[in-house]
Amino acid sequence: MSTFQAPKGTYDLIPPASAKYLAVRDAISAPLKNSGYGYIETPGFENVELFSRGVGESTDIVSKEMYAFETKGGDKLALRPEGTASVLRAALEANLHKAGNLPVKLWYSGSYYRYERPQKGRYRHFSQVGAEAIGAEDPALDAELIILADQAYRSLGLRQFRILLNSLGDKECRPVYRDALQGFLRGLELDDDTRRRIEINPLRVLDDKRPEVQKQLVGAPMLRDYLCDACKAYHEEVRELLTAAGVAYEDDEKLVRGLDYYTRSTFEFVHDGLGSQSAVGGGGRYDGLSEMIGGPALPSVGWALGVDRTVLALEAEGIELELPATTSVFAVPLGEEARRVLFGVVTELRRAGVAADFSYGGKGLKGAMKSANRSGARYAIVAGERDLAEGVVQLKDMESGDQSPVALADAVTAIRERLA
Ligand code: ATP
Ligand code: MG
Repeated sequence: MSTFQAPKGTYDLIPPASAKYLAVRDAISAPLKNSGYGYIETPGFENVELFSRGVGESTDIVSKEMYAFETKGGDKLALRPEGTASVLRAALEANLHKAGNLPVKLWYSGSYYRYERPQKGRYRHFSQVGAEAIGAEDPALDAELIILADQAYRSLGLRQFRILLNSLGDKECRPVYRDALQGFLRGLELDDDTRRRIEINPLRVLDDKRPEVQKQLVGAPMLRDYLCDACKAYHEEVRELLTAAGVAYEDDEKLVRGLDYYTRSTFEFVHDGLGSQSAVGGGGRYDGLSEMIGGPALPSVGWALGVDRTVLALEAEGIELELPATTSVFAVPLGEEARRVLFGVVTELRRAGVAADFSYGGKGLKGAMKSANRSGARYAIVAGERDLAEGVVQLKDMESGDQSPVALADAVTAIRERLA
């Protein structure tokens, strides 16, 4: 151990476990790549104002969890706590919305930072794969994203997840509801913090997990009863498309989500094996966000799925992913000449696309075979002076233990045939 440890609330991804994270990222992005989403990458930090305006000054993410700092040059920046604001900023900056091909569909994958109280499934550095469909108001787009997330989770073998769905209304009906809710909440027995929240962000109070708060919320006005006809019809269409696609969801009238920018469809993916950090992903429609950050009106929808919690969900369901072998062939040279020859064979194998590794460091037969075993290779190629003199290498099947000589000149072809 060195003098240093990973900072509080962070952890390192280390082989072999790290392979699972890569596989999860791949599994989440595969349905997106297959559905017209292009890859976008943005910086790990942005001007802090992008988030305070885009995510919302009153949200926990901005007011409590953001890593904001000033550079030596005096720029006020923040490590990105989420992806949507950055992706929209980048799309606007590149004028993607003006190319006459809306919606602009983008996916991303990366690290996000929130100063939270660390616990299982809640870290200060975590990773998300996300998708945004920018510039179209179409219930089929909301449905598409939910269906693709469902497909991603299922492709990983996950079954114990649920999709929660709600509509938050739009700029017509939400303010009316907000007033009604505030009127109701002001009459409750709540602590000062929550009272302040009533004035800034009353919908968030519905999200309060404390039982003493939840008890008082019985009988609160529900947004469902305030939705305007356009929002109702939109929501109904999303629901019908999901049902037609065979994707099960639950209506959750209390689902509000922690970001200010959501309108209409909001959804969350929860996993029942994760305890209190049960949200594995979330998203929704954010029709007003573009204007909030100085862009034109661009109705959009997106989601972000948490990679860390998806891995925990796999563990909770006891799912072992079938990961491709990292090494198919392991070379064990005995002696100087064999070292050069087998290094050449390994190079050739790799160029032919075969995952191959080599015993480095001049190990003896026993140590080298141990490495071959550990590598998980299907075959070992072993060669000593006598083999080379005969123009062969020994090909050892690591499963059966059988060993047979193959001509050195044919080694690559022979190995590829056996692996095929
Ligand atoms: P929570 O309610 O658990 O705080 P959230 O609503 O803040 O989640 P989002 O902002 O919607 O989460 O982010 C989408 C996903 O990213 C979450 O569903 C979760 O899987 C993951 N995520 C968010 N914050 C963290 C964190 N601190 N550590 C690990 N994963 C996280
Ligand atoms: Mg959170």
